[in-house]
Amino acid sequence: MTTNEMIDKYKEWVFKCSAYNMALALIGFDKQTIAPSAGEEYRDERTAFLSGELFSIETDPEMMEIMKTLKDDDSIDPDINKAAKLYYDNMLKTVCIPKDEFVSWQKLTNESFNNWRRAKDADDYSIFEPYLKKVIEGSKKLYEYRGKDMPIYDQMLDDYEPGMNRDKYDAFFDALKARLVPLIKKVADKDGIDDSFLYKKCDIDAQKKFMEHLLDYLAYDKSWGYQNETEHPFTDWVCENDCRTTTKYLEDNMVSAIFSTIHECGHAWYEHNIDPKYDGMILSNGVSSGMHESQSRLCENYLGRSKAFWEANYDKLTECFPDLLGGVSLDDFIKAVNVSTPSLVRTEADELTYPMHILIRYEIEKGLFDGTISTEGLDKTWADKYEEYLGIRPEHARDGILQDVHWSDASFGYFPTYALGSAFAAQFMDSMRRDIDVDAYLKDGRYAEIEGWLREHIHRYGCRYNADEIMLKATGKPFDVNYYLDYLEDKYTKLYNL
Ligand code: ZN
Repeated sequence: MTTNEMIDKYKEWVFKCSAYNMALALIGFDKQTIAPSAGEEYRDERTAFLSGELFSIETDPEMMEIMKTLKDDDSIDPDINKAAKLYYDNMLKTVCIPKDEFVSWQKLTNESFNNWRRAKDADDYSIFEPYLKKVIEGSKKLYEYRGKDMPIYDQMLDDYEPGMNRDKYDAFFDALKARLVPLIKKVADKDGIDDSFLYKKCDIDAQKKFMEHLLDYLAYDKSWGYQNETEHPFTDWVCENDCRTTTKYLEDNMVSAIFSTIHECGHAWYEHNIDPKYDGMILSNGVSSGMHESQSRLCENYLGRSKAFWEANYDKLTECFPDLLGGVSLDDFIKAVNVSTPSLVRTEADELTYPMHILIRYEIEKGLFDGTISTEGLDKTWADKYEEYLGIRPEHARDGILQDVHWSDASFGYFPTYALGSAFAAQFMDSMRRDIDVDAYLKDGRYAEIEGWLREHIHRYGCRYNADEIMLKATGKPFDVNYYLDYLEDKYTKLYNL
């Protein structure tokens, strides 16, 4: 076969995979938003079948040979050469798994997700525990097929954040602990800031009204973006012009849906901004989970909790909630949305205590995979760790071990990228502020132009470069955790007059 024939085959194959991936993404989005629960079993079986079909396509031996040749051929289009490298790495990870095991694995993770949801509704960890155990055992088996001489949890960490492992994360979390644990303590010793007005009964229709305004402000255009509701907010995408986010409205929390929306729109903007020439290819994805999270958390915290952001939006918010915010000044509102108080639920956590929630999950995952922690009694282990790091203890499993979806579908190794992403974001912000007047853009409602900076320096590349290369291109320096720690120290020292 000539190189040109191989490239033609490659393009056909990419198109076919993208069609299956689109179907599976839409089914997944539907499952987590509107699909009626009684149809779950029927749908899950067919979803597993489709995943199995895609598995066969993705591990087609002829395509593996083609990919192997294209990845080593420097004379071809560099985008195809890079994509072939990434596809080939993924093929090696999946081809080793027998297809029937792969299909039963899809069924198991679907069942596990369903039972996690049941357990959370019933506030009963014992419903989920047997599935968690099976999912951990199943994950271990799948990774063993790879036959790599690397501990399984390190491989998992590397899957979500290429290049990362336990040693590097240990060093990262040690740096966080050293400076954040004393800072959290100092903040806890100060008199609290009043944020009670954010947690009064708050009409959901009024929240939805503000949401329409917010989505416009975020330039989340209906021609390429769509928002729905779900239990656990997330973002999914089909291509640059079909991004889908979800949010969740709470009756007793005025800002939860607002910040989750800013966060998820940050993910959506990343996908939307990737160079359209990569559409359908593996390159058309955020480069790593940490990099994705850096973009969502940059929007949520560095932009969304700033005074400039609310100078543009506070009038509309008070118009939607005149009774709750009538007597609250903009400055008091800004203080309230930046309050730091140890809390039980990660997705509701403030910026300062958030990394401790991640540290807890990271330590538990390490233990689950090195055998020092068991799924039995894990609800207690969880509670003990919250007491140790945050001084609080969950009384209910739904606010404790059952709060996150991630372990139900075997996303082990994912959590640490949340903390890493927050830290990446600090370094990106530092560079962005040197280039553009971020606050002026926020005040003037020029949000799309801020996303324009992010597109130019980060988003457009998709997976064309790795996370280290993008960090270097965007900031001129390798990743340095001190940008994040300096930012948090500076912010909370000022906010609490420490
Ligand atoms: Zn996120």
